Amino acid sequence: MLVEQPGTGDLVAFVTRYLPCSACQHAYSAGDVAVLRHSAGSWVLSATCPVCHHNSTFSAFDRLPYTHLPGMGAVHSSPLSQDDVQTWADFLVRFQGDLSDLLATSD
Ligand SMILES: [Zn+2]
Repeated sequence: MLVEQPGTGDLVAFVTRYLPCSACQHAYSAGDVAVLRHSAGSWVLSATCPVCHHNSTFSAFDRLPYTHLPGMGAVHSSPLSQDDVQTWADFLVRFQGDLSDLLATSD
């Protein structure tokens, strides 16, 4: 098992509490679960069933995996205001173009 990293105890506790053995449904105890790898907000854990010895691996992430991709999950825009909504409503009333083309543009 790797040196204890922040959050590791919570992950092990989650496995023991919510993820039983997939073969016989027996619960794991903390000693049955090991962290195999931890890097850049992701963990790979291994659990060995104390009853049937079936081994399972689990992946865990500190946030949704796609948010680790560049430009994903980092939207920092302010909430829409009533003025924003009215501006778009006024625009759409007068808009004569192709709405699919309008929505396909990135900015
Ligand atoms: Zn089992």
